[in-house]
Amino acid sequence: VFASTPQAPADPIFALTAGYQADSFKQKVNLGVGAYRDNNGKPFVLPVVRKAKQILAADESLDHEYLPIAGLPAFVSATGKLIFGADSPAIKEERVVSIQTISGTGANHYGGAFLERFYEPWLGKSKEDKVIYVSNPTWANHKAIFNSVGLTPVDYPYYDPQTIGLALPKFLEFLRNAPKQSVFLLHACAHNPTGVDPTREQWQEIAAIFKDKSHFAFFDCAYQGFASGDLDNDAWAVRHFVSQRIPLLVCQSYAKNAGLYGERIGALNLVASTSGDGPGGAARLRSQLLILQRQEISNPPTFGARIVGMILNDADMFDEWKRDVKTMAGRIIAMRERLHDLLVNELKTPAPGPNGWDHVTKQIGMFTFTGLTPPQCKAMVERGHVYMTGNGRISMAGINDGNVEYVAQCVDKAMRG
Ligand code: PMP
Repeated sequence: VFASTPQAPADPIFALTAGYQADSFKQKVNLGVGAYRDNNGKPFVLPVVRKAKQILAADESLDHEYLPIAGLPAFVSATGKLIFGADSPAIKEERVVSIQTISGTGANHYGGAFLERFYEPWLGKSKEDKVIYVSNPTWANHKAIFNSVGLTPVDYPYYDPQTIGLALPKFLEFLRNAPKQSVFLLHACAHNPTGVDPTREQWQEIAAIFKDKSHFAFFDCAYQGFASGDLDNDAWAVRHFVSQRIPLLVCQSYAKNAGLYGERIGALNLVASTSGDGPGGAARLRSQLLILQRQEISNPPTFGARIVGMILNDADMFDEWKRDVKTMAGRIIAMRERLHDLLVNELKTPAPGPNGWDHVTKQIGMFTFTGLTPPQCKAMVERGHVYMTGNGRISMAGINDGNVEYVAQCVDKAMRG
């Protein structure tokens, strides 16, 4: 009965990792997957996470019962404060509805599914008219996720290949020309794959148009803390939109900032408006999120929620976590500077754009969009054994003191043809 099931293509990022693993070249480097590595190229268990695990292991009162449908209460009640700020008007006015999700992917999935069912401007519309605008380019999975829940993803201009930076005028014009109440996916910080984030002034311009056009902001926040090393700083755009009372939701992931990739811990936060969602708005939204969760996974998993819940609720552990996040972000920023220095000052490598290699240090978060062309990326992989995606993206987290010179030499060779 499955004879007509077509073979699906392998996921390009995971296929890249498989290629890396099969490669016997000694100096091979994996810059494909977006997972943090320490200066020895090893996965990093955050010291505060190690501590939390020890506390959990020693606690004999813990059992293995189901969590409530919304998730672990200690986690669910704290996660919104991390992104919105503890003194957020939305939290004080009890307009934030949070639900524990299967990491950021699950949050995106629920965010899309919730809007598909309940976003009023879409009621009665067909899939083609339920358009979610996504940045060009965006995280590869966004389109697949939104398609799978009955939405139609459509690109908006974001990245300018000429400047290897933000295509701000085109982006703003697109926002202005889109129908009122359009839904736009925004990367809260550390844009994946480009590493290109709007500045605060640019966010203000973007927010002003959202307000004017009553657009809905679908924030995806997978890297809070990773951009600047400061959790609050990286939440600035979201908090600004909240202060402007722009309708929005926020997807959170603790994969990167807590190093909990496999634990699949994240959250979806909906913000009910002060007036538009009517009396009992937050409670009604919450009741529908519970239905979604029940249909999808019944109850979310416990382990990651216990770890993050403990860290978010304990002042000392929270401070320690902030230091761990700084360590990771700081190492990435240091590697940006080193790579930039090697390319510009030592190797004098021809640059892909008019601004030299400045984008390497200017871009933010885990990724650098190098500006390398697809054939140059291919050369990196095939000749240099430096594994990277064909769009020119490299994960800075894969670079360390031991391989940065080799990576720079490979970039140099690729650029010179
Ligand atoms: N959104 C973006 C922009 C991402 O880069 C990622 C991870 N690569 C995710 C969401 C989801 O990641 P996870 O499900 O592992 O939290």
